[in-house]
Amino acid sequence: MKNVIFLAPPAAGKGTFSDYLKTLGYCHYSTGDILREKAKSDTNLANILSSGSLVDDDTILNLIESVLKNHDKKIPFILDGIPRTLQQAKKLDIILNSLGMNHLVAVHIDVEKDILIDRVVGRRICPKCHRSYNVILDGFEPKEEGLCDDCKEPLVQRSDDNLESFEKRYQAYIESTYPIVSYYKEKGSLKVVSNNELDQTSAFEKLRGVVSEY
Ligand code: AMP
Repeated sequence: MKNVIFLAPPAAGKGTFSDYLKTLGYCHYSTGDILREKAKSDTNLANILSSGSLVDDDTILNLIESVLKNHDKKIPFILDGIPRTLQQAKKLDIILNSLGMNHLVAVHIDVEKDILIDRVVGRRICPKCHRSYNVILDGFEPKEEGLCDDCKEPLVQRSDDNLESFEKRYQAYIESTYPIVSYYKEKGSLKVVSNNELDQTSAFEKLRGVVSEY
């Protein structure tokens, strides 16, 4: 199976798609999750994350390079959250080529903006297992109010899951990330999967086809 890069606006479903691919044997690297973990002991980083701004390219590329150097090549991986800019995409290509990990597909998850807003505002996350819920979308609430179904941990709201921060992250996506879609399209490694429906069965089926193609 191909390595996967997700290109998607905030709350498009990268996490859910990644969970699905993990059931197919994928290893998942989320730059957002890695940075949030680091931010627990780094106030500067915590401030950048809650403002919705991007971390600088060198920091993020060094981070992902060290993660991939330790990755077992036999296992397909997902990069979730990187690249966010065209510059990052080009540098990431160099890293992946040098590590012999360039058998990949860039999956553009396409979702309408109104749907993204509902997902962001209602999103709640388990701080322990990172499972995601939604308190305003039917069928995505936890079984017991405010608690993770699996860990029973109290759910939390990400500090950047508010409208103001969403708008900023969405604009950053339109301005910086969208050109990357064209970049991968020109290279012939782009696939589009739309994820507007609450029932994600057909999106998962499409995704499975995309990652299995040779
Ligand atoms: P995410 O969970 O992917 O929405 O990322 C949360 C935050 O982490 C972003 O708003 C950025 O501040 C930071 N971040 C994650 N990935 C990157 C990246 N590739 N480049 C720069 N900043 C990033």
